[in-house]
Amino acid sequence: MNYILFGPPGAGKGTQAKKIVEKYNVVHLSTGDMFREAKKSDEKISALMAAGKLIPDETVVEMVQKRLKKDDVKNGFLLDGFPRTLNQAKALDEMLKKENIKLDAVFFISIPHEEAIKRIAGRRVCGCGASYHIHFLKSKIEGKCDLCGSDLIQRVDDKEETVMERLTVYDNQTKPLIDYYKTAGLIVNIDGAQDEKNVFEQIAATIKNKK
Ligand code: ADP
Ligand code: ADP
Ligand code: ZN
Repeated sequence: MNYILFGPPGAGKGTQAKKIVEKYNVVHLSTGDMFREAKKSDEKISALMAAGKLIPDETVVEMVQKRLKKDDVKNGFLLDGFPRTLNQAKALDEMLKKENIKLDAVFFISIPHEEAIKRIAGRRVCGCGASYHIHFLKSKIEGKCDLCGSDLIQRVDDKEETVMERLTVYDNQTKPLIDYYKTAGLIVNIDGAQDEKNVFEQIAATIKNKK
C-alpha cells in the first residue's frame, strides 16, 4: 500500500503518520524530517525552512527519488509533506510509473487556518521525532519527552510570523494539488478537526477498504 498524507501545516500529518506506521507495515517518508536532518549541514536549506519558504523542486525531487529507490519502501510507503507543488506531483508520477508502483490514495486532512495556527503555536517536538502539543497532547512531564526524556523544543518555523507565511505558501503552491489528485480519482477527504483518534479511524477505514 502506498499513500500520501496531504494537508496544510499543522493538520496532523506527522501525528497520523506515526499511528499508521505503527499499525501497518509501511515506511514514513517525511520530506520535512529529511530536510530538518539535512539543514544541519546546509545553510541554504536551513534559511529557506526558517523563513517558511519551500525548498526548490529539483532538490526535493532528487532527494525523494533517491529515497524511493531503497528496498524498504517495497512493502509500501506513506509520503508526508511531499508533493507540495504541481511540479513535484508530476515528477512523482514519473518516478512511480518507471518503477511500476501504484498510489492507493491521497488522504487530504483538512482543518481551518485558525485551527492550524493554534496547533502549530503549541507544537513542541523532540529530537527523537516525537511531537506534542502544550494543550492538546501534553507530555507527562512538562517540557520533557515521554519517550526519551530529552527537552522539548519549538521548531524555528513554528514561530507566529513564519506560520502565516507557511499557510500562504500552502494556499498558493500546494492547495492546487487537490484538483490534480481529484482528477486522478485518488483524493480521500478526512476531517482533520476531529480528535486524533477519530481522524485515525477514518484513515484506517479507508485503508481497510482498499486492501
Ligand atoms: P509541516 O509538517 O508543518 O507541514 P514539514 O515538516 O512538512 O512542515 O516541512 C517543513 C519545511 O520543510 C517546509 O516549510 C519547507 O521549507 C520544507 N519542505 C518540506 N517538504 C517540502 C517539499 N515537498 N517541498 C519543498 N519544501 C519542503
Ligand atoms: P503536521 O505534520 O500536519 O504539520 P502535526 O502532526 O505535527 O501536524 O500536528 C501539529 C500539532 O497539532 C502538534 O502539536 C500535534 O500534537 C497537534 N495535533 C495533531 N493532531 C491533532 C488533533 N486531531 N487534535 C488536536 N491537536 C492535534
Ligand atoms: Zn524524545
